[in-house]
Amino acid sequence: MKRRIFFQNSALVTTGALAGCAVPSVAQQPAKTPFQVAATTIPIVGTDAVFPVRRIYCIGRNYAAHSREMGSDPNREPPFFFQKPTDAVQYVAAGTVADHPYPTLTKNYHYEAELVAAIGVGGRDIPVDKALDHVYGYTLGLDMTRRDLQRASGDEKKPWEIGKSFDKSAPIGAIHRVSQSGHFAKGAIWLKVNGTTKQSADLNQMIWSVAEQISKLSLAFELFPGDIIYSGTPENVGPVVRGDVIAMHIDGLPDLSVKIV
Ligand code: MN
Repeated sequence: MKRRIFFQNSALVTTGALAGCAVPSVAQQPAKTPFQVAATTIPIVGTDAVFPVRRIYCIGRNYAAHSREMGSDPNREPPFFFQKPTDAVQYVAAGTVADHPYPTLTKNYHYEAELVAAIGVGGRDIPVDKALDHVYGYTLGLDMTRRDLQRASGDEKKPWEIGKSFDKSAPIGAIHRVSQSGHFAKGAIWLKVNGTTKQSADLNQMIWSVAEQISKLSLAFELFPGDIIYSGTPENVGPVVRGDVIAMHIDGLPDLSVKIV
């Protein structure tokens, strides 16, 4: 009798462990839910598949000149990361100009042009020399920022969410698979507002390479397929207002454009 109870309990524990498991695998029996929550996906160029987004990581101050303009000393301090919610993604198709809403609560809305790496193979404690094996593909994106609120939260030692992690704060292009695009260690990255160049740099000016970012990030968080990493912006971030058109470019990828509305 005791033995039977033991097995019953262990079965319960096992079921509980599976149900509460954080691994984002496909549930064997989808749970009944009272409503649907939309999944976030990004088209994959050259396929009819879409890339399911699990988490959005962003690296801060990864170009020396930008680090200085933000008031920091870029002496290769360990990289730091923050997150945006998955549904901050605003997919922008190549060759289109997407309407991007000017967000509430800010009077100083900034662009940040960034290379984005998409993870296809998860892991933790990933060594730098193996890190690029974890990349599924690349795209380009904007880390849109309510700069006034971000600065205020820093001054007040509060979290950055309201400045960085709001609705539609992550305009992004389609994913280009590594097998098509290769890796991105160098090449021009620029951003124009209404045709005037605002940001212009080279990816080789990143303080932490994509491989180093993945390696460092995997020490803090276990990475999973579907994670994407915004790799930081060069110097000369600045404001936009309603009516402005942003165009951004990275060599080897189609440009991304949004109009602030
Ligand atoms: Mn950024």
